[in-house]
Amino acid sequence: MRPLIATIRLDNLRHNYQVARAAHGDRTLAVLKANAYGHGAVRCAQALADIADGFAVACLEEALELRAAGIAHPILLLEGVFEAEELKAVDEHQLWLAVTSEEQLRMIEQSAPQKPFNVWLMLDSGMHREGFLPEAYHAAWRRLEASGKAGTITKMTHFARADEPELPMTAAQLERFDAVVRGLPPGDESVANSAGILCHPRAQRNWGRVGIALYGVTPLPAGFEDAADLRPVMRFCSRVFGVRELAAGEPIGYGDNFVTDRPTRVGLVACGYADGYPRRASSGSPVLIDGQRSRLIGRVSMDMLTVDLTDLPETGIGSEVELWGDVVSVNEVAAHAGTIGYEPLCNVKRAHFDYR
Ligand SMILES: *Cc1c(COP(=O)(O)O)cnc(C)c1O
Repeated sequence: MRPLIATIRLDNLRHNYQVARAAHGDRTLAVLKANAYGHGAVRCAQALADIADGFAVACLEEALELRAAGIAHPILLLEGVFEAEELKAVDEHQLWLAVTSEEQLRMIEQSAPQKPFNVWLMLDSGMHREGFLPEAYHAAWRRLEASGKAGTITKMTHFARADEPELPMTAAQLERFDAVVRGLPPGDESVANSAGILCHPRAQRNWGRVGIALYGVTPLPAGFEDAADLRPVMRFCSRVFGVRELAAGEPIGYGDNFVTDRPTRVGLVACGYADGYPRRASSGSPVLIDGQRSRLIGRVSMDMLTVDLTDLPETGIGSEVELWGDVVSVNEVAAHAGTIGYEPLCNVKRAHFDYR
Protein backbone atom coordinates (compact mmCIF):
# COMPACT_ATOMS: atom_id res chain seq x y z
CA MET A 1 0.00 0.00 0.00
CA ARG A 2 1.21 3.50 -0.78
CA PRO A 3 2.06 4.88 2.65
CA LEU A 4 0.23 8.21 2.41
CA ILE A 5 -2.14 8.52 5.35
CA ALA A 6 -4.36 11.32 6.61
CA THR A 7 -5.05 10.46 10.22
CA ILE A 8 -8.16 12.29 11.41
CA ARG A 9 -8.39 12.68 15.17
CA LEU A 10 -12.10 13.06 15.80
CA ASP A 11 -11.55 13.70 19.51
CA ASN A 12 -9.56 16.80 18.56
CA LEU A 13 -12.40 17.87 16.29
CA ARG A 14 -14.83 17.61 19.20
CA HIS A 15 -12.42 19.46 21.46
CA ASN A 16 -12.03 22.31 18.95
CA TYR A 17 -15.77 22.60 18.48
CA GLN A 18 -16.20 22.95 22.21
CA VAL A 19 -13.42 25.55 22.41
CA ALA A 20 -15.05 27.58 19.64
CA ARG A 21 -18.52 27.26 21.09
CA ALA A 22 -17.30 28.37 24.51
CA ALA A 23 -15.39 31.29 22.99
CA HIS A 24 -18.48 32.32 21.06
CA GLY A 25 -20.74 31.88 24.01
CA ASP A 26 -23.81 30.78 22.08
CA ARG A 27 -24.97 28.32 19.46
CA THR A 28 -22.40 27.61 16.78
CA LEU A 29 -22.63 25.97 13.38
CA ALA A 30 -19.78 23.63 12.49
CA VAL A 31 -18.81 24.49 8.91
CA LEU A 32 -18.34 21.29 6.89
CA LYS A 33 -18.11 22.70 3.36
CA ALA A 34 -15.52 21.34 0.90
CA ASN A 35 -15.79 17.89 2.45
CA ALA A 36 -15.09 19.36 5.88
CA TYR A 37 -12.02 21.23 4.64
CA GLY A 38 -10.73 17.93 3.30
CA HIS A 39 -11.34 15.94 6.49
CA GLY A 40 -14.44 14.01 5.39
CA ALA A 41 -17.81 15.71 5.94
CA VAL A 42 -19.89 12.70 6.94
CA ARG A 43 -17.39 11.37 9.44
CA CYS A 44 -16.92 14.81 10.95
CA ALA A 45 -20.67 15.41 11.19
CA GLN A 46 -21.17 12.06 12.87
CA ALA A 47 -18.38 12.78 15.34
CA LEU A 48 -19.96 16.12 16.25
CA ALA A 49 -23.56 14.94 16.19
CA ASP A 50 -24.17 14.95 19.93
CA ILE A 51 -22.55 18.34 20.61
CA ALA A 52 -23.06 20.50 17.51
CA ASP A 53 -25.97 22.92 17.26
CA GLY A 54 -25.96 22.51 13.51
CA PHE A 55 -23.82 22.40 10.41
CA ALA A 56 -23.11 24.67 7.46
CA VAL A 57 -22.11 23.70 3.94
CA ALA A 58 -21.61 25.54 0.66
CA CYS A 59 -24.30 23.93 -1.45
CA LEU A 60 -27.24 21.57 -1.71
CA GLU A 61 -25.11 18.60 -2.85
CA GLU A 62 -23.04 18.82 0.31
CA ALA A 63 -26.15 19.06 2.48
CA LEU A 64 -27.79 16.07 0.81
CA GLU A 65 -24.68 13.98 1.43
CA LEU A 66 -25.11 14.66 5.16
CA ARG A 67 -28.86 13.99 5.09
CA ALA A 68 -28.25 10.71 3.22
CA ALA A 69 -25.89 9.70 6.04
CA GLY A 70 -28.67 10.27 8.56
CA ILE A 71 -27.63 13.69 9.86
CA ALA A 72 -30.89 15.31 11.01
CA HIS A 73 -29.40 18.53 12.42
CA PRO A 74 -30.04 21.98 11.02
CA ILE A 75 -27.86 22.41 7.93
CA LEU A 76 -27.33 25.90 6.53
CA LEU A 77 -26.54 26.43 2.85
CA LEU A 78 -24.02 29.27 3.14
CA GLU A 79 -24.42 30.32 -0.47
CA GLY A 80 -28.12 29.57 -0.71
CA VAL A 81 -29.30 27.98 -3.94
CA PHE A 82 -27.97 28.39 -7.46
CA GLU A 83 -31.27 27.70 -9.21
CA ALA A 84 -34.92 27.75 -8.19
CA GLU A 85 -35.31 24.01 -8.77
CA GLU A 86 -33.11 23.34 -5.71
CA LEU A 87 -35.66 24.93 -3.40
CA LYS A 88 -37.79 21.78 -3.59
CA ALA A 89 -35.02 19.74 -2.01
CA VAL A 90 -34.33 22.52 0.49
CA ASP A 91 -37.96 22.30 1.52
CA GLU A 92 -38.15 18.53 1.51
CA HIS A 93 -34.97 18.10 3.56
CA GLN A 94 -35.67 21.05 5.85
CA LEU A 95 -32.42 22.83 5.06
CA TRP A 96 -31.71 26.38 6.09
CA LEU A 97 -30.56 28.73 3.39
CA ALA A 98 -28.72 31.98 2.94
CA VAL A 99 -30.28 34.58 0.70
CA THR A 100 -27.52 36.75 -0.66
CA SER A 101 -28.84 38.35 -3.84
CA GLU A 102 -31.84 39.77 -5.62
CA GLU A 103 -31.99 36.61 -7.79
CA GLN A 104 -32.20 34.33 -4.76
CA LEU A 105 -34.78 36.56 -3.15
CA ARG A 106 -36.94 36.32 -6.26
CA MET A 107 -36.60 32.52 -6.29
CA ILE A 108 -37.93 32.41 -2.74
CA GLU A 109 -40.81 34.74 -3.57
CA GLN A 110 -41.82 32.52 -6.49
CA SER A 111 -41.45 29.22 -4.62
CA ALA A 112 -44.17 27.11 -3.06
CA PRO A 113 -42.66 25.40 -0.02
CA GLN A 114 -44.68 23.03 2.18
CA LYS A 115 -43.24 24.83 5.16
CA PRO A 116 -41.78 28.37 5.25
CA PHE A 117 -38.00 28.46 4.79
CA ASN A 118 -35.49 29.23 7.50
CA VAL A 119 -33.66 32.09 5.78
CA TRP A 120 -30.36 33.73 6.64
CA LEU A 121 -30.41 37.13 4.99
CA MET A 122 -26.90 38.26 4.12
CA LEU A 123 -25.88 41.88 4.58
CA ASP A 124 -22.90 43.10 2.59
CA SER A 125 -21.27 45.05 5.39
CA GLY A 126 -18.08 45.69 3.44
CA MET A 127 -16.70 42.46 2.02
CA HIS A 128 -18.44 43.15 -1.29
CA ARG A 129 -18.59 39.54 -2.38
CA GLU A 130 -22.26 38.83 -1.81
CA GLY A 131 -25.20 40.05 0.22
CA PHE A 132 -27.52 43.04 0.14
CA LEU A 133 -25.97 46.47 0.49
CA PRO A 134 -27.03 48.43 3.58
CA GLU A 135 -29.46 50.61 1.64
CA ALA A 136 -31.19 47.54 0.14
CA TYR A 137 -31.30 45.33 3.24
CA HIS A 138 -34.52 46.55 4.83
CA ALA A 139 -36.40 46.25 1.56
CA ALA A 140 -35.14 42.68 1.11
CA TRP A 141 -36.22 41.86 4.64
CA ARG A 142 -39.71 43.30 4.07
CA ARG A 143 -40.11 41.41 0.82
CA LEU A 144 -39.15 38.13 2.48
CA GLU A 145 -41.57 38.80 5.29
CA ALA A 146 -44.35 39.80 2.90
CA SER A 147 -43.78 36.70 0.75
CA GLY A 148 -44.90 34.44 3.57
CA LYS A 149 -42.21 32.00 2.34
CA ALA A 150 -39.77 32.72 5.16
CA GLY A 151 -40.58 31.53 8.66
CA THR A 152 -37.46 32.58 10.52
CA ILE A 153 -35.14 35.29 9.18
CA THR A 154 -31.65 35.38 10.69
CA LYS A 155 -29.57 38.48 10.09
CA MET A 156 -26.16 37.58 8.79
CA THR A 157 -22.95 39.12 7.55
CA HIS A 158 -19.43 37.89 6.82
CA PHE A 159 -16.06 39.44 7.64
CA ALA A 160 -13.39 40.15 5.05
CA ARG A 161 -10.44 40.68 7.39
CA ALA A 162 -11.24 39.23 10.82
CA ASP A 163 -7.95 37.32 10.58
CA GLU A 164 -6.08 40.62 10.77
CA PRO A 165 -7.17 41.59 14.27
CA GLU A 166 -5.13 44.78 14.42
CA LEU A 167 -7.09 46.35 11.56
CA PRO A 168 -10.22 48.46 12.14
CA MET A 169 -12.16 46.79 9.30
CA THR A 170 -13.97 44.16 11.35
CA ALA A 171 -15.16 46.72 13.88
CA ALA A 172 -16.35 48.88 10.99
CA GLN A 173 -18.26 45.96 9.46
CA LEU A 174 -19.86 45.21 12.82
CA GLU A 175 -20.85 48.83 13.26
CA ARG A 176 -22.46 48.87 9.84
CA PHE A 177 -24.26 45.59 10.58
CA ASP A 178 -25.61 46.87 13.88
CA ALA A 179 -26.73 50.14 12.33
CA VAL A 180 -28.59 48.35 9.53
CA VAL A 181 -30.33 45.69 11.61
CA ARG A 182 -31.46 48.23 14.17
CA GLY A 183 -34.99 49.07 13.21
CA LEU A 184 -35.80 45.56 12.01
CA PRO A 185 -37.81 43.16 14.16
CA PRO A 186 -35.66 41.34 16.72
CA GLY A 187 -34.34 37.89 15.85
CA ASP A 188 -31.19 35.83 15.60
CA GLU A 189 -27.95 37.28 14.29
CA SER A 190 -24.84 35.58 12.94
CA VAL A 191 -21.63 37.35 12.03
CA ALA A 192 -18.54 35.47 13.24
CA ASN A 193 -16.33 33.01 11.37
CA SER A 194 -13.41 31.38 13.21
CA ALA A 195 -11.33 34.55 13.37
CA GLY A 196 -14.33 36.53 14.53
CA ILE A 197 -15.01 33.97 17.25
CA LEU A 198 -11.40 33.87 18.40
CA CYS A 199 -10.60 37.55 18.58
CA HIS A 200 -13.60 39.82 18.16
CA PRO A 201 -15.73 39.57 21.31
CA ARG A 202 -18.27 42.01 19.90
CA ALA A 203 -18.97 39.49 17.15
CA GLN A 204 -20.56 37.12 19.64
CA ARG A 205 -24.14 36.83 18.48
CA ASN A 206 -26.74 34.07 18.44
CA TRP A 207 -24.94 31.86 15.95
CA GLY A 208 -21.22 31.44 15.37
CA ARG A 209 -19.97 29.79 12.20
CA VAL A 210 -16.74 27.97 12.92
CA GLY A 211 -14.73 26.55 10.03
CA ILE A 212 -10.94 26.41 10.05
CA ALA A 213 -10.59 26.50 13.86
CA LEU A 214 -12.74 23.38 14.05
CA TYR A 215 -9.92 21.56 12.29
CA GLY A 216 -7.37 22.85 14.79
CA VAL A 217 -5.82 25.40 12.46
CA THR A 218 -5.66 29.00 13.55
CA PRO A 219 -6.77 31.66 11.07
CA LEU A 220 -4.73 34.22 13.00
CA PRO A 221 -1.24 35.51 12.30
CA ALA A 222 1.76 34.25 14.28
CA GLY A 223 1.70 35.78 17.74
CA PHE A 224 -1.97 35.05 18.18
CA GLU A 225 -1.30 31.33 17.88
CA ASP A 226 -1.70 30.56 21.56
CA ALA A 227 -4.88 32.53 22.03
CA ALA A 228 -6.99 29.38 21.88
CA ASP A 229 -6.17 25.77 22.65
CA LEU A 230 -6.81 24.35 19.18
CA ARG A 231 -5.61 20.85 18.35
CA PRO A 232 -4.80 19.82 14.78
CA VAL A 233 -7.30 17.28 13.53
CA MET A 234 -5.44 16.05 10.47
CA ARG A 235 -2.02 14.51 10.55
CA PHE A 236 -0.89 14.07 6.94
CA CYS A 237 1.98 11.61 6.81
CA SER A 238 3.92 9.50 4.37
CA ARG A 239 7.19 7.61 4.33
CA VAL A 240 10.62 7.75 2.77
CA PHE A 241 10.82 5.07 0.09
CA GLY A 242 14.12 5.93 -1.55
CA VAL A 243 17.45 7.40 -0.45
CA ARG A 244 20.46 8.65 -2.42
CA GLU A 245 23.66 10.55 -1.77
CA LEU A 246 24.50 13.50 -3.99
CA ALA A 247 27.66 15.58 -4.20
CA ALA A 248 27.53 19.34 -3.80
CA GLY A 249 26.39 21.23 -6.88
CA GLU A 250 23.86 18.68 -8.15
CA PRO A 251 20.32 19.60 -9.18
CA ILE A 252 17.32 17.71 -7.82
CA GLY A 253 14.03 17.15 -9.61
CA TYR A 254 12.34 19.16 -12.33
CA GLY A 255 13.69 22.50 -13.42
CA ASP A 256 16.37 24.50 -11.70
CA ASN A 257 14.52 24.83 -8.44
CA PHE A 258 17.30 23.47 -6.24
CA VAL A 259 20.99 22.62 -6.44
CA THR A 260 22.72 20.91 -3.53
CA ASP A 261 24.97 23.28 -1.60
CA ARG A 262 26.80 20.47 0.21
CA PRO A 263 27.06 16.67 -0.05
CA THR A 264 23.44 15.80 0.49
CA ARG A 265 21.49 12.73 1.49
CA VAL A 266 18.15 12.94 -0.26
CA GLY A 267 15.00 11.14 0.83
CA LEU A 268 12.24 10.37 -1.65
CA VAL A 269 8.76 10.65 -0.13
CA ALA A 270 5.46 9.24 -1.39
CA CYS A 271 3.42 12.43 -1.66
CA GLY A 272 3.07 14.94 -4.45
CA TYR A 273 0.86 17.66 -5.76
CA ALA A 274 -1.71 15.13 -6.99
CA ASP A 275 -2.20 14.28 -3.31
CA GLY A 276 -2.75 17.91 -2.37
CA TYR A 277 0.74 18.89 -1.28
CA PRO A 278 1.19 22.35 -2.82
CA ARG A 279 3.45 22.28 -5.87
CA ARG A 280 4.39 25.85 -5.20
CA ALA A 281 5.92 24.96 -1.82
CA SER A 282 9.48 26.22 -1.99
CA SER A 283 12.67 24.41 -1.01
CA GLY A 284 12.95 24.90 2.72
CA SER A 285 9.31 24.10 3.45
CA PRO A 286 9.26 22.27 6.76
CA VAL A 287 8.78 18.51 7.11
CA LEU A 288 9.15 16.29 10.15
CA ILE A 289 11.13 13.11 9.60
CA ASP A 290 10.98 10.53 12.38
CA GLY A 291 10.17 13.36 14.74
CA GLN A 292 12.91 15.72 13.61
CA ARG A 293 12.45 18.84 11.55
CA SER A 294 13.97 18.99 8.11
CA ARG A 295 13.10 20.57 4.81
CA LEU A 296 11.72 19.99 1.38
CA ILE A 297 14.41 20.27 -1.31
CA GLY A 298 13.68 20.44 -5.02
CA ARG A 299 10.38 20.87 -6.78
CA VAL A 300 7.34 18.88 -5.73
CA SER A 301 6.40 16.27 -8.37
CA MET A 302 2.97 14.81 -9.03
CA ASP A 303 3.46 11.71 -6.85
CA MET A 304 6.69 12.37 -4.99
CA LEU A 305 8.72 14.97 -3.22
CA THR A 306 12.30 15.08 -1.98
CA VAL A 307 13.56 15.97 1.47
CA ASP A 308 16.92 16.62 3.09
CA LEU A 309 18.15 13.75 5.27
CA THR A 310 21.76 14.96 5.53
CA ASP A 311 21.60 15.92 9.19
CA LEU A 312 19.42 12.96 10.16
CA PRO A 313 21.77 9.97 9.73
CA GLU A 314 19.44 7.59 11.55
CA THR A 315 16.63 8.19 9.07
CA GLY A 316 16.20 6.24 5.88
CA ILE A 317 13.81 4.05 3.95
CA GLY A 318 10.64 3.65 5.95
CA SER A 319 11.11 6.79 8.02
CA GLU A 320 7.85 8.55 8.77
CA VAL A 321 7.40 12.00 7.23
CA GLU A 322 4.86 14.36 8.74
CA LEU A 323 3.90 16.69 5.91
CA TRP A 324 1.68 18.62 8.30
CA GLY A 325 -0.01 17.85 11.56
CA ASP A 326 1.16 18.20 15.11
CA VAL A 327 4.63 19.71 14.75
CA VAL A 328 4.61 21.11 11.23
CA SER A 329 1.48 23.21 10.95
CA VAL A 330 -0.33 23.32 7.64
CA ASN A 331 -0.13 27.10 7.90
CA GLU A 332 3.68 26.90 7.82
CA VAL A 333 3.63 24.78 4.69
CA ALA A 334 1.04 27.05 3.12
CA ALA A 335 3.15 30.10 3.87
CA HIS A 336 6.02 28.53 1.91
CA ALA A 337 3.63 28.06 -0.99
CA GLY A 338 2.12 31.55 -0.99
CA THR A 339 -1.25 30.35 0.24
CA ILE A 340 -3.20 29.75 3.45
CA GLY A 341 -3.70 26.53 5.39
CA TYR A 342 -7.28 26.16 4.15
CA GLU A 343 -6.15 25.37 0.60
CA PRO A 344 -3.82 22.39 1.10
CA LEU A 345 -6.31 20.89 3.57
CA CYS A 346 -9.14 21.06 1.04
CA ASN A 347 -6.90 19.54 -1.62
CA VAL A 348 -5.93 16.35 0.21
CA LYS A 349 -6.83 13.34 -1.88
CA ARG A 350 -5.59 9.86 -2.82
CA ALA A 351 -4.50 9.37 0.80
CA HIS A 352 -5.77 6.60 3.01
CA PHE A 353 -8.01 8.22 5.63
CA ASP A 354 -7.58 6.76 9.06
CA TYR A 355 -10.28 7.95 11.49
CA ARG A 356 -9.40 7.75 15.16
C1 LIG B 1 -16.57 29.33 5.13
C2 LIG B 1 -17.44 30.27 5.87
C3 LIG B 1 -17.33 30.38 7.27
C4 LIG B 1 -16.23 29.68 8.06
O1 LIG B 1 -15.03 30.42 7.90
P1 LIG B 1 -13.70 30.02 8.70
O2 LIG B 1 -12.78 31.14 8.42
O3 LIG B 1 -13.21 28.75 8.10
O4 LIG B 1 -14.09 29.88 10.11
C5 LIG B 1 -18.23 31.19 7.92
N1 LIG B 1 -19.18 31.88 7.24
C6 LIG B 1 -19.29 31.81 5.90
C7 LIG B 1 -20.36 32.60 5.22
C8 LIG B 1 -18.42 31.02 5.17
O5 LIG B 1 -18.51 30.98 3.84
